Amino acid sequence: MTFDYDLFVIGAGSGGLAASKRAASYGAKVAIAESDLVGGTCVIRGCVPKKLMVYASQFAHWYDDATGYGWEGVAPGHDWSKLIDRVQAEVMRLNGLHISFLEKAGVELISGLGRFVDAHTVEIVSPEGNRQVTARYILIAVGAEAVRPDIPGIEHSITSREMFLLPERPERFVVLGGGYIGVEFAGILKGLGSQVTQVLRGDRILRGFDSDIRDQVQQAMGDRGITIHTHADMGSMAIEKTDRGLLIRFKTTDGAAHELLADAILSATGRKPKPQIEPLNLDKAGVEVMNGAIAVGIDHCTNQPHIYAVGDCTDRVNLTPVAIAEGRAFADTVFGHQPRTISHRNIPSAVFSQPEAATVGMTEEEARAAYGDRVKVYRARFRPMIYSLTDCTEKVLVKLVVEGENERVLGVHMVGKDSAEIIQGMAIPVVMGATKADFDRTIAIHPSTAEEFVTLR
Ligand code: NDP
Repeated sequence: MTFDYDLFVIGAGSGGLAASKRAASYGAKVAIAESDLVGGTCVIRGCVPKKLMVYASQFAHWYDDATGYGWEGVAPGHDWSKLIDRVQAEVMRLNGLHISFLEKAGVELISGLGRFVDAHTVEIVSPEGNRQVTARYILIAVGAEAVRPDIPGIEHSITSREMFLLPERPERFVVLGGGYIGVEFAGILKGLGSQVTQVLRGDRILRGFDSDIRDQVQQAMGDRGITIHTHADMGSMAIEKTDRGLLIRFKTTDGAAHELLADAILSATGRKPKPQIEPLNLDKAGVEVMNGAIAVGIDHCTNQPHIYAVGDCTDRVNLTPVAIAEGRAFADTVFGHQPRTISHRNIPSAVFSQPEAATVGMTEEEARAAYGDRVKVYRARFRPMIYSLTDCTEKVLVKLVVEGENERVLGVHMVGKDSAEIIQGMAIPVVMGATKADFDRTIAIHPSTAEEFVTLR
């Protein structure tokens, strides 16, 4: 049987772009369908514009710190619409760059929404007219989308998608949820001058992270002026549009009633593949869905031997670099004849909260559940040198979780400036199986914050 393409990719986000270019590099005839800008969530409405906004908001803190170092006349003032315009211009530049990378790689870009007609045929739906193509292999890389909690009036809230396009900075900003997105945008808006309130159904932000990280970031966010309501009974919550702004009413589990007024409410209560995979007509290709995500094996193959899926639509580890690694492993295996899988263990990640937090490997709680008393923890909390001439009392946390007599390092965690940069480096010894002794015999860089990792006692 002949096909139009060796590989057809649905979705030009991180995973789809990486896979399509790698497959084309092996000589495969590849096309990729995308109904939006090229780059996916990360580039268009996620990691990249978010990090730019984090940079923008951090200046507020630095202005304060600068006065401790003798700077005078530092008067912060911020132009929200200039920031939004510049961030969008950068997003458009990156969209263009990714299109040119596809051209260079010899991958055909087809504009439109891909959906299955049968197991080897995809229809691309576009205002310019629909088109059907056939392919020997098909890769699904359609990502995920924010899901809003089922609350009366939730339609008045926005998701992270709209955060990058708000015409004005909301003076009163309420965040629902305490995961990556909620914590990051709370910090951004606080830094830019908004009054920020975060509402959690549990007791703490950042479920799944090491407890010390969760406590330290939550404490610091409070110290920086973010109000955090814990133990919200979400079943009691309702949102109403009034002439004073958006009114959020809820009770906490102790029965106390709360009312908040907001100019914008961000729903940051998780992202799910369902809204993205529903339009694919997966049943026409016989592709299995499990728990709302595309079911794949370790080789990213679905129950159909020629249909694969990578990235957030498989709901495994939902991070850009993971989708890229999965996409490349798929292409190397299927088109490069170098079968390989990737490990979903020891994946470093960072939360661009303020202060920043980053982590690799096991949390203390996970390590104790797996190794019990064999686990030992080394930690230090200290005021970093940069704050010694300023009024800031915020502390850095560094933490190693080790196991057994030879003290194999299972986890490295940090809260503080440049955590993401530092933990990226720390991930290498963790992946290599380093021990505490390996850390100890490494000479420190002095004076630095990261040197604490090699001097912990
Ligand atoms: P997360 O899954 O990280 O967090 C969801 C938050 O919403 C949790 O605090 C959770 O509370 C809460 N929540 C869930 N359901 C409800 C509900 N019905 N009512 C009230 N609260 C609720 O989701 P995010 O939206 O923050 O981020 C989605 C994904 O995006 C992340 O998992 C991550 O993979 C990715 N991402 C990564 C970033 C990075 O690497 N820096 C940045 C941004 C996003 P509870 O703790 O009680 O469950």
